[in-house]
Amino acid sequence: MNNSKINKNIEKINLEWNIIQSEMKLQLGTDVYESWIKKINLIEEFSNYILLSVPTRFIRDWITSRYLDQILQTIKKYKKEIVRIEFKIEENKEKIEKKTDGLKKSNENQKVSFIKDAYFQYNRIDPNKRFENFLIGQSNQIAFEASKKVSNNFSYYNPLYIYGGVGLGKTHLLNSIGHKLNENKKVMFISAERFMYQFVKSIKSNEMVKFKEYFRNTDVLLIDDIQFMNGKEAMQEEFFHTFNALLDKGSQIIVSADRPPNKLSRIQERIKSRFSGGLVVDIQKPEYDLRRKIINHKINELITLYSDNLKISDEIQDFVSSKVTTNIRELIGAINRLVSFSRIYKKIPSLSETKIILKDLLNLNENNVTIDAIQTIVCKFFKISKNEMLSSRRSRYLVRPRQTAIYLTKILTTKSLPEIGREFSNRDHTTIIHSVRTIEKLKEKNPDMSDNISKLKNIILYKKDNEI
Ligand code: ADP
Ligand code: MG
Repeated sequence: MNNSKINKNIEKINLEWNIIQSEMKLQLGTDVYESWIKKINLIEEFSNYILLSVPTRFIRDWITSRYLDQILQTIKKYKKEIVRIEFKIEENKEKIEKKTDGLKKSNENQKVSFIKDAYFQYNRIDPNKRFENFLIGQSNQIAFEASKKVSNNFSYYNPLYIYGGVGLGKTHLLNSIGHKLNENKKVMFISAERFMYQFVKSIKSNEMVKFKEYFRNTDVLLIDDIQFMNGKEAMQEEFFHTFNALLDKGSQIIVSADRPPNKLSRIQERIKSRFSGGLVVDIQKPEYDLRRKIINHKINELITLYSDNLKISDEIQDFVSSKVTTNIRELIGAINRLVSFSRIYKKIPSLSETKIILKDLLNLNENNVTIDAIQTIVCKFFKISKNEMLSSRRSRYLVRPRQTAIYLTKILTTKSLPEIGREFSNRDHTTIIHSVRTIEKLKEKNPDMSDNISKLKNIILYKKDNEI
């Protein structure tokens, strides 16, 4: 029995860590995740701190100096008591294999290939992001035209610096330029995060010469998200030299960032000033017309792709264009969701369904949704009392409503699993996960269940009490 308890504990820890890692991936982006966050493992959870493992000292220092705060904040969402993080260095399998791989020759081969591997892995220009499918409006016209210009008149603006908030099309434009110039030039497309990663890897494996050659050999260098290139003096030094060497030999450099050069933090002044030396353009938030255009384009694209006739109505298109204003990525995400809905249910979503499907994107005030309100509404719906819901009794007529309320709390609020557990009479968070999964499964199998959930969501979000 003791053993099974231990196993259960381990399972619990792993599960949470996966969730935390997925959250970090969303927050920091795939690149940062793949380079660093993925390499962190959870070893043990203590009352107010946790012990994590990373494969090398360097990775520990890197993570500590850049991401520790965000990691801690995310962990706190799941367990408020955690106030610090400790790291342990645990060489991973990969490294141990390398070590036992004693022969100098094979080691050498490995070194030579890693930059090449990196090239294949990270220099892939996305063929789906081209000028032809970049829609133009007031907010992105200048950036678009500058990008076209460097693609047609090499080195006309050098460097070209494009900046703007997330999801506004910077990477799309860099891809488009890369795609076009790749027809007859040597193009290198890399994110700043990756550039640094390769740099550090090269130092560690004594491959700096190859690294330099590799980057200085290109006709076009596209660097995405330069704001991540902060700190680390030696790296900036190397970047600066690469940058100058490329400009000297007439290569084209294009840089993207989330802010203008003078606002970059912890980046050397001379690098900033070289960025400002070329053309600096920005992309702004999409205006209504562009949003409408993108939605329409996306819907038509999906209709052609699936060759069905489920066309989202003009009313819904208008609604989404006026409500989802933050960025283009979210706008496209919203359309994808609506189209998936219509394909699954074989019908076009109504306005009120749209509101539910896009709830988190529409900025409907989440604070209105309290656990207490959810519990009250669910109890009323299933005609049980709140005491019964919160009791430990396991009769079937109580278990389902309880699980339903837990499920709704998870999807309609940002409360963490332990927080939800506390609000349901101190239930363990594994119980909470179990409830959420049970309802998810039932919803798929049982139309009544799924119908009840939609009704309840509607009541909770829009307080249409009369529907009970
Ligand atoms: P950023 O790099 O600025 O964060 P992305 O270039 O990744 O943004 O764009 C986010 C998503 O929106 C991508 O799928 C991209 O193809 C799409 N997108 C952005 N701008 C446009 C546009 N003007 N026309 C069509 N699609 C766009
Ligand atoms: Mg980007």
